Amino acid sequence: MKLQLNIQPLNTWLNIKNEPLIISGPCSAETEEQLLTTAHLLAATGKVSVLRAGIWKPRTRPGEFEGIGSIGLEWLKRAKAETGLPTAVEVANAKHVEEALAAGVDILWIGARSTVNPFTVQEIADALQGVDIPVLVKNPINPDLQLWAGALERINRAGITKLGAIHRGFSSYEKSSFRNEPMWELAIQLKTLLPDLPIINDPSHICGNRELIPYISQKALDLDMQGLMIESHVDPSIAWTDAKQQLTPAALGELAERLTVREPESQNEAFTDQLAELRKQIDKIDDLLLQKLGERMAIVGKIGEYKRDNQVTILQVNRWDAIIKKGISFAKALKLDLNFTEKFLELVHGESIRKQTEIMNAGKAEKGIAAETHTEVKS
Ligand code: PEP
Ligand code: MN
Repeated sequence: MKLQLNIQPLNTWLNIKNEPLIISGPCSAETEEQLLTTAHLLAATGKVSVLRAGIWKPRTRPGEFEGIGSIGLEWLKRAKAETGLPTAVEVANAKHVEEALAAGVDILWIGARSTVNPFTVQEIADALQGVDIPVLVKNPINPDLQLWAGALERINRAGITKLGAIHRGFSSYEKSSFRNEPMWELAIQLKTLLPDLPIINDPSHICGNRELIPYISQKALDLDMQGLMIESHVDPSIAWTDAKQQLTPAALGELAERLTVREPESQNEAFTDQLAELRKQIDKIDDLLLQKLGERMAIVGKIGEYKRDNQVTILQVNRWDAIIKKGISFAKALKLDLNFTEKFLELVHGESIRKQTEIMNAGKAEKGIAAETHTEVKS
């Protein structure tokens, strides 16, 4: 599926001061002094193109700091007047949109907790009808590409063409080193659906801590993302929200200095020729891999019939153990990543089981015995 959205290139609506594009500022506007000091220090780095600040904060539990509210918009106005930095805030309903527009905010973004809800996104879209302002849509909390794309579509249909996405990672039940799993493949899939859409990475909300921010920032740039949104606070240790993941403006400046911006393409002819040659070799190998998988699945089909005719179960745990052991020791010798090898073998094995189940149960449905089916329901 390709989506047809009317999107204006990022550099036509945003004056990028320095490569890469960096949007920075506190998670929350707390006091006028905190916001203004942070803004001045960020501007002084010369690396920041947009000042961000949360004015209304969506909090998981009630009773926590829920944002300073409208007064913070006045502080932002002052920060912009004094530093020349355009401003960005999160909006989560029509009232936020109206207030932010009235206060002259330059860029709006939709937070992860809003993108999950089509009613909320539509309310924001309706409030944006006829308005010419850039809007960035964060990925939904849950890893659902359709929800993310749907939110972008709703905003675009309201006439917003200065549109971008923010990749801030996805909530996961499993413990990991990240606060939100990056699941890069989803951002890549969005890029495939909408090649013209600028995607900005948010390492702060992915990492949840300062230490991993440089690694994720560089990785995002290497995956051809158009910029970074990184939280920064004059004194992160006393920040009212997201204290662990904010950088001082000085640390942000140093990080920006160390990042390497690589080009998606090279003009160098020798490089292009060599790359094309290597890609040809890879394509040949991919063809072979698929051909071999086809041959493997044909044999799996025969085994399925054989097991069915002899009343043998599909799964023999010993056999599976042996495959994994043999595969892993072979992978070691080939210097393949073991985690990758295990996942690959599991995927192939899963498909073999699915195919054999299909064969075992063929014909049962007609006899009134329901074969197990998986129907995906999308609302
Ligand atoms: C934020 O940017 O401060 C924020 C609340 O982010 P998210 O919507 O990604 O959780
Ligand atoms: Mn935050």
